[in-house]
Amino acid sequence: MLDTIYDVIVIGAGPAGTQAAVSASHQMRHVLVLHSGKVSFSRGRAYWSKSVEIEDAPVFPGIIGPNFAKELMKWMESRPVVEFKLGDEQRKAGIDIKDGLVTKLTKKDDVFVLEASTSTLKKDNSIQLEQFTSRTVVVASGFDDKWPDIEFQPDENRLYKQYATVFRYAGNRKGWHVCIRCDGHLHVNEHLALLGVGDYIYEAAIGAQDFTEEITILTNGRPHGMSPHILNQLEERNIDIIETGIKRHIGEKTDLLGFEMMDGTELFFHGFLVDEGLIPNTKFLSGWDYQKDDEGLIIANEDMQMLDSEGNPIPGLYAAGDIISGERNLIATAFALGQEAGLSASDSLRKWHYPNS
Ligand SMILES: Cc1cc2nc3c(=O)[nH]c(=O)nc-3n(C[C@H](O)[C@H](O)[C@H](O)COP(=O)(O)OP(=O)(O)OC[C@H]3O[C@@H](n4cnc5c(N)ncnc54)[C@H](O)[C@@H]3O)c2cc1C
Repeated sequence: MLDTIYDVIVIGAGPAGTQAAVSASHQMRHVLVLHSGKVSFSRGRAYWSKSVEIEDAPVFPGIIGPNFAKELMKWMESRPVVEFKLGDEQRKAGIDIKDGLVTKLTKKDDVFVLEASTSTLKKDNSIQLEQFTSRTVVVASGFDDKWPDIEFQPDENRLYKQYATVFRYAGNRKGWHVCIRCDGHLHVNEHLALLGVGDYIYEAAIGAQDFTEEITILTNGRPHGMSPHILNQLEERNIDIIETGIKRHIGEKTDLLGFEMMDGTELFFHGFLVDEGLIPNTKFLSGWDYQKDDEGLIIANEDMQMLDSEGNPIPGLYAAGDIISGERNLIATAFALGQEAGLSASDSLRKWHYPNS
């Protein structure tokens, strides 16, 4: 693999990474997409819309998450690598796709070196690491949602095992939602439970008012963390806050119906939204001097170029999608940012530019 220096390596195959790859290959660049879906169970956020149809994404009306991920893959596969000659130079254009969880990103002599774990992690299997090189990189690895710690098994170290019960209900029409803007329309005038504390859940409550006035905030045993000013506003709107811990889910197959609380009471709702924050997928950037916000989301300029702590663009390093600070965490936004990043990375590889004087 090290013989090939790609023009662009894209990390992540959600809408942002897919669009970045397609846009760069459309400009005759040789692109490699590394995505962790099959080797790590980190499959991208849209994947978790398991039975809820995604209604507001361009081109894919009424698709569910796992099918959306497959369609994105097909779109990239429709641009296989071809060889062509530009002037006297032999070049390649198109997209190679590889399963791989990127674990480390370094730069040596103007070339990025990406280390990725490329085989499925299994008990007793040693990690298989491979290296890939490129002239530019687009980080489109998104973030993982934090899930509620109800019936959580801290002794299990694999994410999906830790949250086995939560994941049964996650992303279903009648289950855990994580995006009020995406799924609020399923619960118009219904009773919504919002789980979380502080600013996160307050903002979810503000969003929920577009769909219903029946809202209850559950903190799962923690102090609510909201100021008196905010509490007054919630009281005026008849939004209850329940600070009792939650003992277990009450559900039927994949439908979530309510909770048994630590005090023995049972609460039932029509819809459930959790906002406990996020985990940015950026471990591989450890050691890089780059700007990020308090949640760890990347701060980029208008060309989607990452910035160092002094505000200077980092040559060759771009980012797009949910991983970008201050943008809406939605599919159409991810496509738009992905296109900008893919084209900017491609433009940076041109041989000549406007003269300086
Ligand atoms: C349940 C749910 C429902 C949603 N519904 C809607 C909706 O209806 N409408 C809407 O517009 N938005 C919706 N969203 C939001 C939408 O899914 C995200 O905004 C969008 O997927 C972000 O795209 P992205 O490409 O930035 O990141 P993601 O889609 O999260 O993709 C990230 C990619 O990076 C890969 N990756 C992560 N780490 C690594 C690594 N180290 N190495 C290699 N690859 C890595 C993952 O495998 C994945 O391919 C929903 C989200 C959820 C969770």
